[in-house]
Order: sequence, then structure tokens, then C-alpha cells
Amino acid sequence: MGTIDGLPPLRDVIRDHGLVAKKSLGQNFLLDLNLTSRIARIPGDLSGASVLEIGPGPGGLTRSLLAEGAGRVLAIEKDARCLPALADIASIYPGRLQVLEGDALEVDPLAHLAAPIHVVANLPYNVGTELLVRWLSPDSWPPYWDSLTLMFQQEVADRIVAQPGGKVYGRLAVLAQWRCEARIALRLPPEAFTPPPKVSSAVVHLRPRAEPLYPADPEVLSRVVAMAFNQRRKMLRSALKGLGGDTEALLTGVGIAPTERAEQVPIEGFAAIARAIAAR
Ligand code: SAM
Repeated sequence: MGTIDGLPPLRDVIRDHGLVAKKSLGQNFLLDLNLTSRIARIPGDLSGASVLEIGPGPGGLTRSLLAEGAGRVLAIEKDARCLPALADIASIYPGRLQVLEGDALEVDPLAHLAAPIHVVANLPYNVGTELLVRWLSPDSWPPYWDSLTLMFQQEVADRIVAQPGGKVYGRLAVLAQWRCEARIALRLPPEAFTPPPKVSSAVVHLRPRAEPLYPADPEVLSRVVAMAFNQRRKMLRSALKGLGGDTEALLTGVGIAPTERAEQVPIEGFAAIARAIAAR
């Protein structure tokens, strides 16, 4: 049976290029092009769109993004062993795939790609959360990206979409949902990957809100949320002591009981605390 683009099946690509998966680079490959195409369709119509892909590896998702019509794909890959396989893909899509060898944490995509950009990635687990926090904390809002479609370990995905009151509600949920609509678009068992990781995975889809849900200074909000959840078992009056001033009065002033714990406080409450601090 043929593939979506006439290139060899990914199993052959991996064998021919000797791409034995490296654990240190979080390499768990998706070899089923039907599956990668399902992921590539999550952002919606990609015709002519600019796409940033982090960690293309042997290029399964890359091939699906291009087959779905992406106008330009910028793919950043740390493992030089993958470059020949990615060059084969570039050769059948002239001018549409640019591959950069490097660390995604150090490359500025805007030096190579014009906004608006869809970010799509089966992320290396070791850098996924850090990249997400950066994408959620740009200097100005709305950000340069139109959507984020990101594979995470299921536990991280659940934290991103969590609601107040649950054990997994925390900093990631507040940061993500304050500025974005976030949903789990797809859940995948370990067997979907080669080699299979220890845990299940999930694809999270985030779209930026035109305005954050509630007004607040992003840096102050981020500091408050980090402090509150750093000691999530403690009551807020203790957890937020480091903010200085009369914490009890500050909390009461915004209608939050000083005895509440961070995991009970909705995003609106954290935004109110951040505004009160900014106003001091
Ligand atoms: N996209 C491919 C797929 O779905 O089969 C590979 C996904 S694999 C989970 C993660 C990929 O990210 C690997 O190819 C790995 O080499 C690459 N990677 C790891 N750390 C990276 C970093 N800091 N910057 C860019 N790529 C990285």
C-alpha cells in the first residue's frame, strides 16, 4: 500500500537511516501516518498556513502537515541523525519545509517564519512544559501563534485543562486557561509510539483568547500563582506570605477566605489577587 506522499513507510525510514530511538532526547516516534494526519488536522484547515514543528524526528507528523497543505513548515530538530530523512521530505515539497538543527529552547522561530503560525508538535517530554510556558507568556497578547497542538504525557495534558477543586489543578491550568481555550483533542496509549513510553499521552489544543479571561498583569499573576501552588497544601494566608504586606487583608479584600487553599481558587480569584497587588 502507498503512503500519503510516495515516500517510504516510516519503519523503513528509521531502519535505512539508523534512527535508533534515544531516551535522552525523549524519542518516542509515531510511525502510523494515519495517526499523524489525525493530529495534523486538529488545528483545522492548514492550506497555505505557516506551521512551526518542534522535534520532527523521522518526520511522520511533518509529512502529514505538508500533505494537509501547510504552506510552510519550520521544523526544529536537535538530533542531527534525523536530518537526511527530513531532507528527503523537503525534496518532494520544494520551498515548503525548512529544517533547522538546534535546540527549540534557543531558536527564535520568528527569525524564520512569519505570523500567524500554527504550532504543532509531538514534544520531547523533557522540554515540553518549558516551551508551553514560554508560548503562554509572550511580551504581548494575542501572541504570534494562532494555535498550539501539542502532545504531552497524559498527566501533563490533564493538568493543562484541569478545573479548580481537583488535585491536578495548578499553575499550568491557570496560565493556560487565563489566556487560551484549552481542550484535550486526542488521547493515545503507549503502544501508539515506537518505542512505547511508560505512560499514555494526549494531544492538547490551545487557541488564544482575544483578551485574557480577567484583567491582570501577566508577571504579577504568574508570580502569585507560582507562590500559591508551590505550597498547595497550605492555606493561602501562609502560602502567599512572601508577597509581603497584610496577606489576610489582601485576600479578604478580594473576597477570598484566607483559609482557602490554592486548588480551590478559580482563575478569576488569582486575577483579583494580582490586581490587588499591582494596585498596592
Ligand atoms: N515528531 C516525531 C514523531 O512524532 O514521531 C518525533 C517525536 S519525539 C517524541 C521528540 C523529538 O524531539 C525527537 O526527534 C527529539 O530528537 C527531538 N528533540 C528533543 N529535544 C529537543 C530540543 N530541545 N529541541 C528540538 N528537538 C528536540
